[in-house]
Amino acid sequence: MKIAVIGAGAFGSWTAFHLQSKGHDVTLYDRHGSGNPKSSSGGESRMIRGIYGNNQQYIEWTTRSLELWKSYQLEWEEELFVKTGILWMFSQADDFARNSLTFLEQVNWTVDELTKNETKNRFSQINVSDIHTLFYEPDAGFLRANHACKVVTDQFQKLGGIYIEKSINRPVEPSCIETEDGTQIEADHYIFACGPWMKNLFPEKLGNKINPTRQEVFFFDTPQQFQMDSMPMWADFGDVFHYGIPGSKYHGFKIANDTRGESFDPETGNREPSEKGRKKAMDYATYRFPELAGRKITDARVCQYEDTPDEHFIIDRNPDADNIWLVCGGSGHGFKMGPAIGEAVAQMVTGQNPINPFFALSRFDS
Ligand SMILES: Cc1cc2nc3c(=O)[nH]c(=O)nc-3n(C[C@H](O)[C@H](O)[C@H](O)COP(=O)(O)OP(=O)(O)OC[C@H]3O[C@@H](n4cnc5c(N)ncnc54)[C@H](O)[C@@H]3O)c2cc1C
Repeated sequence: MKIAVIGAGAFGSWTAFHLQSKGHDVTLYDRHGSGNPKSSSGGESRMIRGIYGNNQQYIEWTTRSLELWKSYQLEWEEELFVKTGILWMFSQADDFARNSLTFLEQVNWTVDELTKNETKNRFSQINVSDIHTLFYEPDAGFLRANHACKVVTDQFQKLGGIYIEKSINRPVEPSCIETEDGTQIEADHYIFACGPWMKNLFPEKLGNKINPTRQEVFFFDTPQQFQMDSMPMWADFGDVFHYGIPGSKYHGFKIANDTRGESFDPETGNREPSEKGRKKAMDYATYRFPELAGRKITDARVCQYEDTPDEHFIIDRNPDADNIWLVCGGSGHGFKMGPAIGEAVAQMVTGQNPINPFFALSRFDS
């Protein structure tokens, strides 16, 4: 089959790769390049971890994805996944972790519940004074986000896939898909995986279903005790959800606040980090990691989440055209599952599997 995939972020690059590896004739388009800094897959790192509340689907896709990240990094001789472990800290209800335990056991994903004393002994650089419960996933780690998108796109091309750096116009009629210079694209299927841009590409179907929000991320000057050989990634569930990644050769100690920021346009939005955000990150760092007090913020990024109303992905046909597929709505947690999403989309588009109602647009009808 002839297939056009539009968008070479985590979702589109893996989809194109899987389809090409099944022998289809795939062309992948991206307006700014695979893993570009405006895209939601931009930046150096994204977490992969198993705890996912009671969502068995995400646990299965995360497990499958980790398997694929690891096996392809061996085959391609490229570092894509860096194992660090992750420490979950709950100062409030810990259902998000506890509800995952049975599902994680079924897929042999290790989670250890740690006492406060055990945590203090292992990671004395973390202040756990207000924390009630702690869980540790030794097999979690981070993915080299923008680099991985480029590697997957390169590997797709090595299989014979065609990659074109051009923008695709907003489809005015379902059957007319064209590049920015007006060249019509002939294909059996068109898969749109344009992250936060989907809202504007499909205003009628997705205008009120994809909400890109402004998110700031800060990197600190990293003393040895905050490097990845001294401590794991962490997820801190309190009044606010903070998370971060220890320092490595790829970047400094990373701190992010998961609270949704204001609505954001991925093309024109202001990517200058705010003073308010900087101060909040400093205050948080000083409380949770007291030895970071006085350390400088050495780098910062403004990225965007592209939230759906229920924060679950959208993977479905366009209701107006059977051969147009919408794959989007990463909602701040999609990167890790790129390999499994790509595999699932490839199976749906080629008719091997039906659309999964959990990700269908019809779930929003009521
Ligand atoms: C700060 C931050 C932290 C995050 N942390 C994590 C994490 O720890 N773990 C995790 O799993 N997930 C995380 N996420 C979420 C994850 O990064 C996203 O869910 C995922 O990257 C979405 O990928 P995508 O392919 O859907 O979109 P994108 O990466 O945005 O890709 C869309 C692509 O489409 C292209 N495009 C757009 N319009 C057009 C057009 N008209 N023609 C051609 N090309 C076009 C763009 O250039 C872009 O490259 C985080 C996100 C952010 C912002």
